[in-house]
Amino acid sequence: MPQTSLPKPGVLLVVSGPSGAGKTTLCQRLSVEDPNVIHSVSCTTRAPREGETDGESYFFLNVEEFEKKIENGEFLEHALVHGNHYGTLLEWVRKHLASGTHVVMDIDVQGAEQIRNHPDPFIAECRADLFIFLSEDELTSRLHARASESEDQLAVRLKNARDELAQWPNYQYVISSRSREEDYARFCAIVEGEKQRSIDEVAR
Ligand code: 5GP
Repeated sequence: MPQTSLPKPGVLLVVSGPSGAGKTTLCQRLSVEDPNVIHSVSCTTRAPREGETDGESYFFLNVEEFEKKIENGEFLEHALVHGNHYGTLLEWVRKHLASGTHVVMDIDVQGAEQIRNHPDPFIAECRADLFIFLSEDELTSRLHARASESEDQLAVRLKNARDELAQWPNYQYVISSRSREEDYARFCAIVEGEKQRSIDEVAR
């Protein structure tokens, strides 16, 4: 019988994969469709894209503000990605997990590795990670189709994507990307499985 008096922390699902793999879409869609799931809002020093809102898409900071947060130890993880800083606030994540909310976060492979090796036992207990894989050909055509970057930025993202693809064996779960709907169905199945794991562990 589950012991309901014990706290039931949320699942922290870290999602990585190359640019264009659809990580953000998967995380956003689930957070809209499942009221118990929240999509983590990262800090970044990159400039907002058209349609992006501060505090919703990202917390947009300047480099000085970002470095101050590093100094203060405010980040669960942070990394330099495509020439810009990105990071997740530790307290923001802890607060949601502790209240039982599941957190999905779309971060790069360096950040995922920091979370995998994080010393905080609470984070270690909650975390799971997933890699969205796609072939190099598919990756190139998706990035060109997205057309949200300049040619130079696109070249950087393509190069980084090749390096990122090599990291898939480090992840607990891997989805080899097919259609949006198929990817989403598999993504939901993984999240549901992880939710059960956290419930079972608490009930033990
Ligand atoms: P974009 O600029 O396209 O929004 O994101 C670029 C890359 O940064 C993506 O691969 C995304 O997963 C990664 N990213 C976004 N937020 C974070 C974060 O908080 N930490 C890390 N390490 N990577 C992030």
